[in-house]
Amino acid sequence: MSLDNTSHPGRPGPEELVPSRYALRIGEIDVLVVSDGVLTLPGAMLAHNADPAVRAAWLKDMFLPPDAFDWALNVVVVRSGGRTILVDAGMGMEFPDLPRSGQLIKRLEAAGIDLASVTDVVLTHMHMDHVGGLLAGGVKDRLRPDLRVHVAAAEVKFWEAPDFSRVSMPPGFPDALRRTAKRFLNEYQSRLRTFETEYEVAPGVVVCRTGGHTPGHSVVRLASGGDRLTFAGDLVFQVGFEHPEWYNGVEHDPEEAARVRVRLLRELAANGELLVATHLPFPSVGRVAVDGDAFRWVPIFWDY
Ligand SMILES: [Zn+2]
Repeated sequence: MSLDNTSHPGRPGPEELVPSRYALRIGEIDVLVVSDGVLTLPGAMLAHNADPAVRAAWLKDMFLPPDAFDWALNVVVVRSGGRTILVDAGMGMEFPDLPRSGQLIKRLEAAGIDLASVTDVVLTHMHMDHVGGLLAGGVKDRLRPDLRVHVAAAEVKFWEAPDFSRVSMPPGFPDALRRTAKRFLNEYQSRLRTFETEYEVAPGVVVCRTGGHTPGHSVVRLASGGDRLTFAGDLVFQVGFEHPEWYNGVEHDPEEAARVRVRLLRELAANGELLVATHLPFPSVGRVAVDGDAFRWVPIFWDY
């Protein structure tokens, strides 16, 4: 017997055998984590400043192959104060080399979320796995004309002349990232609402610039009725708990990215709030504990 764990070609998402969305509430705020799929990338991208033998040992300890790592790709929908906010937009359909990603639009539909109901988009940054979904065929036309797209001013400025001198990516990635960010800016310029350090998008929903990963990288902090959750975008990867000092290949300023990561993980470990991040395994909802000089990921339990 063979069971396909993704949608059957040509049919919409409700028939998926493996769930691709996870709902929770933060006080009065509704949160839905939606998987855009998975990206398979070289294992070396997890830590280009690590001893290759140490990196290989980490992958082996995780029962993972030595040369390829599946990155989850999570997007979040937040509802608060009458607004429906899409936090990042996944990869879209432009990248045939990454065929397991780009599922977001289909899965939003399966979750009963009409694109026309989205009032705001918040972008943690403008890498293609975060803005690509907005460039997928027909998406822009289905979004409302008064849609607001929130992104840090520093992020928009960065992509005018992006510095790729510190990254470690497969050939072709820098060009694809440049091209996608440029196209996104061309198509969504009139809908951009930039902010300097932070902006409250809706009650209890605040986007805060952190820098590091990219100069305008931002996180989204939710707070309502004593509950808290931070969507950390690309500040934390699966290796980042045990090895927060490892430089990820997609970080444009890796030293600063590591500093920001450690600061955020310390804060979350101290206050016990929930963490969701783009590339942690779906549904990527959990807490952070201190573990010696590093950290430990503590996933929440399925509670339905
Ligand atoms: Zn990313």
